[in-house]
Amino acid sequence: MKVLVDLNRCQSYGQCVFAAPGVFRFRGEESLEYDHVPDETAAPEVRRAALACPVGAVTLGEDR
Ligand code: SF4
Repeated sequence: MKVLVDLNRCQSYGQCVFAAPGVFRFRGEESLEYDHVPDETAAPEVRRAALACPVGAVTLGEDR
């Protein structure tokens, strides 16, 4: 699974961080960091994060 966040669209609401804290995190006040290719075991929470993002900034792709 691949994760792409459109950081121009991201408003730092943090919903993805709440939904998948193992994959998304803030560095500093509002700089979002995330694992671009998270472990497959994180897939359910990453999907929840994508759904939770109020501005639809989280895009998921399959890498196989
Ligand atoms: S939920 Fe969406 S807008 Fe909020 S920090 Fe995550 S990617 Fe950004």
